[in-house]
Amino acid sequence: MNISATIIAATIATIALASSVFSADRPAVAVAVEGKSDWRIELASKDIPVVQWAAKELQTSLRRMSRRELPIGDFKPARPAPAIVLGLRKDFSVEDRSILPRVPRGFDGYAIAVLPGREQSLSRILLAGENDRGAIYAAYDLLERFGCRWFYPTQDENDPEVVPKQSTLSIASGSWAVASPFKYRICNPSSWIYEMDYPAAAKQLDWAMKNRYNCMAWGPVSNASMQSQYRQLKEHGLLAELSKRAMLLYGPGHCFDQLLKADDYMAEHPQWFGMRDGKRVPQTFFGAQFCWSNPQARKQFAENAAVFLDACPEISILSLMPFDGGKSCDCPECNKAGASNLLMLLLGETIDRIEKKYPQVVVETLGGYGNVSAPPTNAKIHPRQRVVWAHWGRYHGTPYDDERYAERKNLELWHKAASGGLTAGQYYGDNFCQPWIMPPFAMAIEGDRRYLIEKKIDSVFVLMWPPGYWWNHGLNGYLAGRCFFDPSLDPYREIHDYARHYFGPAAGPALAAYYEQWARQIDLAYRVRGGASEADVAMLAAQRAKWLQPAMTAAKDDAPYAYRLSKVKQLHAIAERMAESSRQNEEIDRLRKEGKIEEAKKCLDRLRTTTEHILQLAHANADLNQGLIDKQTFDAFVAPGLKSRIEERAKALAKKDEK
Ligand SMILES: [Zn+2]
Repeated sequence: MNISATIIAATIATIALASSVFSADRPAVAVAVEGKSDWRIELASKDIPVVQWAAKELQTSLRRMSRRELPIGDFKPARPAPAIVLGLRKDFSVEDRSILPRVPRGFDGYAIAVLPGREQSLSRILLAGENDRGAIYAAYDLLERFGCRWFYPTQDENDPEVVPKQSTLSIASGSWAVASPFKYRICNPSSWIYEMDYPAAAKQLDWAMKNRYNCMAWGPVSNASMQSQYRQLKEHGLLAELSKRAMLLYGPGHCFDQLLKADDYMAEHPQWFGMRDGKRVPQTFFGAQFCWSNPQARKQFAENAAVFLDACPEISILSLMPFDGGKSCDCPECNKAGASNLLMLLLGETIDRIEKKYPQVVVETLGGYGNVSAPPTNAKIHPRQRVVWAHWGRYHGTPYDDERYAERKNLELWHKAASGGLTAGQYYGDNFCQPWIMPPFAMAIEGDRRYLIEKKIDSVFVLMWPPGYWWNHGLNGYLAGRCFFDPSLDPYREIHDYARHYFGPAAGPALAAYYEQWARQIDLAYRVRGGASEADVAMLAAQRAKWLQPAMTAAKDDAPYAYRLSKVKQLHAIAERMAESSRQNEEIDRLRKEGKIEEAKKCLDRLRTTTEHILQLAHANADLNQGLIDKQTFDAFVAPGLKSRIEERAKALAKKDEK
């Protein structure tokens, strides 16, 4: 280590000490000893349902760990007993507030103090939220110190949450405080998009809150009424689950086709609709966005948005985005004004229409994406207008803070335009445009976070899609939630923490090394989709031999570790065959160019066999219903792609034969 590195390390150590006075040589506080506990949970804040709910969460997990149920209450008159005291910071006594560390500037923060008493009965743990969400996060933080982790939603009953059974629960004394630099941490998981899976959606919501998201994004289907779908959210209890946790609701997202329906208006007002190939067309994939330069159309749109909000009052962030995949209207006025300028105009008028009645509702639209990729140039932008900026198909090997990141200028211009603030739309959990076998996107999470904090971008939106991949991309959803809440977390270190807790002490170190290699050598995952070399195939084989097989042997009799490892093994097997198929494609092309047609044909036969294996494996994995592969999108998009690669090569070889 050179001198400057030493100074940096010392500085980091000092910062770490300042934010967390937490040391192993300080006296420990034991909440339970060998299954016995006289601790209780006291509520510092009275009559706040979210705090009461947080206390129950704490009680439930402590019971699952130690089999002791700690009573909850305010216990007056006081009998001396050790207590976990939970509530809003403002409701703690002056003396307690002076003990609690100051919370960094930010959102949904909390402070914790673990205070050993002169005698056991005087020991206390203070959990103080800056707001109600902060109080819940403080409870989860304490549980995490006892070993709890919530890596995945509980969608697989064979794969429970990490809640270690231990008769003694002990924690070193100290104090620390955390707050997020991001005001909105929006989770958009697969069961909240299009066809809702309500039981899974409830599990994803619970998981999101545990991992420090504070908002759930809902995206209804476009072929049914949005209002009726909202009522379904309510009837299935999801709105109540949000409210228990003080979580926000974001939606409906891509909805312009719903807010100005062709069925309702097109016969009478064809000119409200978009032009394509000289004709006015409805808002469908082969149609166009409506005519944003038409003032009457915009007025009706704003009116309908207001009616929608009346029917869906629990929406906190009204997200109004053009329907997905639609071209802009091609009329002369729209072309002249530019789509992004008109979008800002349309949204500004919509905000004007609703803000008197709903001053608290935040309004967001889309930028940097699809037909509104180009930043606005001359639009008058409403001061409250927010934009979610989304770079679809982004490569995660160049974070926003990397000089080589090509869309930085676009991001900066949209940030400047978004007067009400910008949300960074992140594809860390998207297997549709991202690798099918997903690596941890630690590199992007780290560099993106650095950039967003520096630029004072105050919100992130994490998409997780499609539904059948929920486990495959769940780790990235977890890492993003945690790392965008707590800026001190190192995502690579979190990968090690994950491996240790999720796969157990025997297999953990090997899995940590495995995932760290995927995270650092980020191109491997992209090349598994296409362009893999012989070296990639060899690397995957080496990973299997060096880390996966020994880990499986070490944990083979140890449920649920063995079960969890089987998921990794299944995905790895597909990755190996996909890389091999990709390499074979390259080999065929090379042989063909060299004129070795017979050899190329033999290789083509091998490619057919490899592809068959991939399809069989993918279907078998999808049928396990463990969140590894999404059968529907695999069959609709991945399989045809693999097959067409074969057909292209078969044709090219046949042509050579003719010559
Ligand atoms: Zn137009």
